[in-house]
Amino acid sequence: MHELRIAEDLAAIVLEEAKNGGLSKVSDVNITFGQMIQIVPDIFRFAFREAVSGTAAEEAEINIEITPVKMRCAACGNDFIVNDNKFECRSCGSTDLEIIQGKELFIKSIEGE
Ligand SMILES: [Zn+2]
Repeated sequence: MHELRIAEDLAAIVLEEAKNGGLSKVSDVNITFGQMIQIVPDIFRFAFREAVSGTAAEEAEINIEITPVKMRCAACGNDFIVNDNKFECRSCGSTDLEIIQGKELFIKSIEGE
């Protein structure tokens, strides 16, 4: 259940941003997760709601975008999206790969008034 820890961390950031931006009420929180973070959106939403209970963000809409895992082959330079947990190059079959997308975890934006 790493959702809980992530939700608490992000809630703290959201509240800090809201304070810095002079928002008294946060209406939307837009979050980007890489697929490798393996977040379960429903669990995350639930944990986030708990974490912001009683704060300016308690009624915020939580919008989650999940970016696919993208890798680059060190052997041939090919970039490809991994969608079936098959970690080998689509064009040459090498397993010498570098993750170039999919580990992100950040708040894209927050909205409020
Ligand atoms: Zn390759």
